Amino acid sequence: MQMQVAKDMKNKLVYSFADGDGHNKKLLGGKGANLCEMTQIGLNVPPGFVITTEACLEYLEQDALPQELMASVKDEIGKLEAATGKTFGTGPDPLLVSVRSGSALSMPGMMDTILNLGLNHETLAGVIEQTGDERFAYDAYRRFIQLFGKVALGIGDEKFDEHFEEVKRRVGVKADVALDASHLKEISQRFLAVVRQETGEDFPQDVMVQLQLAVESVFRSWMGKRAVDYRREFHITPDMANGTAVNICTMVFGNMGDDCATGVGFTRNPGTGDNEMFGEYLTNAQGEDVVAGIRTPKPLVEMADEMPTQYAQLVDLRNKLESHYQEIQDYEFTIEKGTLYCLQTRNGKMNAAASVKTSVEMYDEKLISREQALLRIDPELLEQLLHPSLDPDSAVEPIALGLPASPGAASGKCVFDADLAEKLGKSGEKVILVREETRPEDIHGFFAAEGILTSRGGKTSHAAVVARGMGKPCVAGAEGIEVDVALRLARVGDYVLHEGDVITLDGGTGEVYLGAIPTQQAHFSEELKVLLEWADAVADLKVMADADSPEAARKAHEYGAMGIGLCRTERMFNASDRLPIVIDMILANSEEERKEALNNLLPIQRADFIELFSVMAPDPVTVRLLDPPMHEFLPTENQLLEEVKTLSIYRDVVRGRQTALASIASPPPLPEAFTELSEEHVNDALIKKERMLQKVRELQETNPMLGHRGVRLGITYPEIYAMQIEAILEAAVECAKKGIKVQPEIMVPQVITSQELAYVKRIVDELTERLEKASGEKLRFKFGTMIETVRACTRARPLAESAEFFSFGTNDLTQATFSFSREDAENKFLPMYNDSEILQDNPFEVLDIQGVGQLIEMAVRRGREVREDIKIGICGEQGGHPQSIRFCHHVGLTYVSCSGPRVPIARLAAANAKLREEDFVIPGR
Ligand code: ADP
Ligand code: MG
Ligand code: MG
Repeated sequence: MQMQVAKDMKNKLVYSFADGDGHNKKLLGGKGANLCEMTQIGLNVPPGFVITTEACLEYLEQDALPQELMASVKDEIGKLEAATGKTFGTGPDPLLVSVRSGSALSMPGMMDTILNLGLNHETLAGVIEQTGDERFAYDAYRRFIQLFGKVALGIGDEKFDEHFEEVKRRVGVKADVALDASHLKEISQRFLAVVRQETGEDFPQDVMVQLQLAVESVFRSWMGKRAVDYRREFHITPDMANGTAVNICTMVFGNMGDDCATGVGFTRNPGTGDNEMFGEYLTNAQGEDVVAGIRTPKPLVEMADEMPTQYAQLVDLRNKLESHYQEIQDYEFTIEKGTLYCLQTRNGKMNAAASVKTSVEMYDEKLISREQALLRIDPELLEQLLHPSLDPDSAVEPIALGLPASPGAASGKCVFDADLAEKLGKSGEKVILVREETRPEDIHGFFAAEGILTSRGGKTSHAAVVARGMGKPCVAGAEGIEVDVALRLARVGDYVLHEGDVITLDGGTGEVYLGAIPTQQAHFSEELKVLLEWADAVADLKVMADADSPEAARKAHEYGAMGIGLCRTERMFNASDRLPIVIDMILANSEEERKEALNNLLPIQRADFIELFSVMAPDPVTVRLLDPPMHEFLPTENQLLEEVKTLSIYRDVVRGRQTALASIASPPPLPEAFTELSEEHVNDALIKKERMLQKVRELQETNPMLGHRGVRLGITYPEIYAMQIEAILEAAVECAKKGIKVQPEIMVPQVITSQELAYVKRIVDELTERLEKASGEKLRFKFGTMIETVRACTRARPLAESAEFFSFGTNDLTQATFSFSREDAENKFLPMYNDSEILQDNPFEVLDIQGVGQLIEMAVRRGREVREDIKIGICGEQGGHPQSIRFCHHVGLTYVSCSGPRVPIARLAAANAKLREEDFVIPGR
């Protein structure tokens, strides 16, 4: 009785396209859900049904199909027979189906599809009789045997290809369309023999057995190496996609003659975003022919002349798809004897430029709202726009031209197979994968390559689609290139490329060059400006940049930074004109000497700040007072020891020379440099080096990152911080006098207690009073602290009493929270921790929300209790990471600060964070 209930309650495992829920991609897979949806909105989809991902999971768990599954499948086949008037496995008009995989997330080319299933001796005869087209029947048959052999029986493609090529060679033709019925019949028979030879059994004749084996093999492909690698690389968790569905779909034929075709389309151009018919097709072809690069396909627009009626239907299909999905679609279609069928649709993957352009245009066309326009773009995608392109002024002639399949420019050593590409790529070499055409099993080579070059296939070939998805440049179908993998070389006209020669690709133009061509920075499109302005209007978070120099600030400003969130003053100290003064300051023996050096530094710092403030005016600039330990400005002990040694030797030489000269009656004249470099000089230099060495030894620390640095240094040598504060405030006065509105912010690093802040604040107050009196100007600035120690988080309340702003320094705060030193972690154990999933991410790149985030949350709450309007931000690498930004929005920060080129990403992410706040959850809560 109990068993019975459990069985009845079990979920339905099979849905017909007419019934399945088009929104339930987790259950039906993306392809299946969309086939249902398209059927239900009245598009012409061949009848079919979906076996759910739950059935797949059950199969994988129990290593057997769910008990009642094949019975339900049989029922559905019955419905297909009724709908089409065809019969499965028998009769004069046999039903043939495709068996197609499809998980919740599209994993292009990751799993295999079997076409023409249902053919056996009997139905083959039926097809011949019914169509009167023997050639077509055998063409379908040989395709089925090979696909089924490969996917369900595990027989390698090459076993079949051998025979195919042999027959073609014998007949003397290049393209498969040139083969006639007798050739294809011979090929089919050879293929059947291959199956017998490889499996020891005859090709299965029972069509339900064919179907069951096919379903099982699709299910198993979910755990195949290709699929598992792909999921790992793209961080696809079971939460996002778990198991594959199987779609069983009535076959329609694009290979029944010249009134038939098959093709793939994008509702807009995915390379440029232009609103135009885009795609490729082949007449008299089936299924994968277009994407496999077997013949070079024709652009869709040519169909307007070749098949005008069907072209008009295709335009209509495209419009309906786009207005229904409110998104660019990537679709597959087949025309059988003049009738257009849609076989698949999914959201189109585009490059960043096209995504941005279509977002703005679809809003203008009133197809989507502004929110949708912002949400449909993954902020990380914008990274591509900040990638370099080829310098147009480099007047180098390309050696080959292919199709511009995925934009961007890249140089690297050419490599002719994926394994070697992976090997070299992992060892840090830049490589370009060069292939005749690519296949899904080449995927590991893509990950390692800077760019991909193929000599066959179109803009929708495997290479093009995968490269676009990864944002890597790709030139496809460069027909002038002949790749000879065995000889490890490629011929391009008169050139011979050897493996390892450097080439450059321009995926935006399709050009291929010899050698490494210089590249140039990308610039902002008008559409990107518009989109990011919409983002700024939506977002609560402000986006600042980390910038240490006026040039960096200028760049950040172009990227749309709303201020500088972190200016590290030590970077200014390191410039070659300052370092000697800084060293003098460090070597100073008394406060007097130190003050003298600082007096020399003051005007230089002031000038820096004036420029920086002016560039960013009227936006705020947060200046962090000196942070690193002093010894970072000095040479290392070993270097100094070496120099002292050399100088001592030189001193002996000088002495020796003098002794020698004294012994000669009339010595020859000496060159000037020799006389100048007297013993006295060498001695001075030696003393200075020795003093430096002594200082370096004095300053030596076991753990410098936890040692004498930050505010601790500022309190030990208050004159250093006083000089910096004076430079900041004087710069503000200067700017004010010129009528430039500036907002300096003085930030104290490494604070653990409010007493430290109070100490520095006293210096600030004294200087402010003095300067205001002297200049008559009222100084406007903020005083605040970095929060980068655990204690500062716990003591946020008292700190907020003197701090007008907090800035989380998440690099140090992460080190402190994990008790990891960043360098040691990243170089030694972090990769291993990531591989074994002890830690999901690198916490120095992606904010550790569960740990560090909790400290931040607490500090924000405590800080605001004391000072309601306290300005709070985050600086550090994590500040530009979209997932971290969602958290920053969630806990109510005022701003994030990140490196300049990540500012556009952060701006879009800030808007997305706001729009998606409702479904934000803190991981693990
Ligand atoms: P993928 O996920 O690799 O795109 P598909 O399941 O879409 O695999 O199928 C591979 C190819 O076979 C595609 O070109 C598709 O259009 C074609 N195809 C699939 N099912 C049918 C069918 N029922 N009739 C005709 N062509 C089909
Ligand atoms: Mg496939
Ligand atoms: Mg497909």
